[in-house]
Amino acid sequence: MVIIMKPDFTEQQLKDAIGAMEAYGVQVMVSQGSETTILGAEGDASALNQEQLSQLAGVERVMRVSEPYKKANRKYHPDDSVIQIGAHTTIGGTQLAIIAGPCSVESEEQIVGVAQAVEAAGAVALRGGAYKPRTSPYAFQGKGVEGVHLLEKARAVVGLPIVTELMGPDQLPLFEETVDVIQIGARNMQNFDLLKKVGRIHKPILLKRGLSSTIEEWLMSAEYILSEGNPNVILCERGIRTFETYTRNTLDLSAVLAVKRQSHLPVVVDPSHACGQAWMVERMAMAAVAAGADGLLIEVHNNPSCALCDGAQSVTPAQFEAIMDKLRLVADCVGRTL
Ligand code: PEP
Ligand code: MN
Repeated sequence: MVIIMKPDFTEQQLKDAIGAMEAYGVQVMVSQGSETTILGAEGDASALNQEQLSQLAGVERVMRVSEPYKKANRKYHPDDSVIQIGAHTTIGGTQLAIIAGPCSVESEEQIVGVAQAVEAAGAVALRGGAYKPRTSPYAFQGKGVEGVHLLEKARAVVGLPIVTELMGPDQLPLFEETVDVIQIGARNMQNFDLLKKVGRIHKPILLKRGLSSTIEEWLMSAEYILSEGNPNVILCERGIRTFETYTRNTLDLSAVLAVKRQSHLPVVVDPSHACGQAWMVERMAMAAVAAGADGLLIEVHNNPSCALCDGAQSVTPAQFEAIMDKLRLVADCVGRTL
């Protein structure tokens, strides 16, 4: 349940409303937005008396919230969340955030080279997997700790914040110390223990949608992180499993609209993993921006045919530059900048 305060409420009226809610044994989350102040009940809100609360002075409206996610819910937090990544970048405002880089970190030459290219083309963060979730145990599993250190080297050269996937809790101390944005991959979206652990730190978390997860399940995973105290969650739509086999996954662009309606969290789209084919990335990236995405995650490799992972869906630095030019045009049409 949420209480929406009148625009001219007094401090005493706010205190009284909070007290009235707490009397029912719930905790109260206060969200002071640009236009409205909202009090959200956390915990079992079933006993709250809507009639009684709506008669309190200073209260405009009382609403039951049927969705199971609360902190991720726009009803609790009407303003868009804008999340700081690194010292100079945000995700969730008018400015689109383009995160780019190879699927996996392979060598210093590779990651520094790609970092320089994507930075020059306008990317605001560098991605690269050091720990890779591979379907086959015989496939390249990533360079591990060395990969994280190579990302740090690339960051030192180009100055972009680094984004990389956390596969398990053992890697968390290293990631806390070094990484700017921690990615939780599609396969770990419902690893609730891991979600709780990243909820207890303050780093931004890029939470990918699970391979076969509904929008509600995805938002509930965000809720796990938020409920532990970390407000810095960025959602990432990366395609879902459908009966279609032409593409690696099916990019669910309607999820961008749904999530932005239901939640205040920023959403980025990953057309690379969604389509699995480099030639589709440009158009799907443009479509994602038109659909209202707050940013994109694009796989870029200096030599896709020799990539150790996801070469088929990786674009070259030159193709990435051309994509950025196209994205600027779409961004302009939808009132965003790049
Ligand atoms: C990745 O970003 O390289 C990755 C493995 O993504 P996903 O978890 O979406 O498959
Ligand atoms: Mn990949």
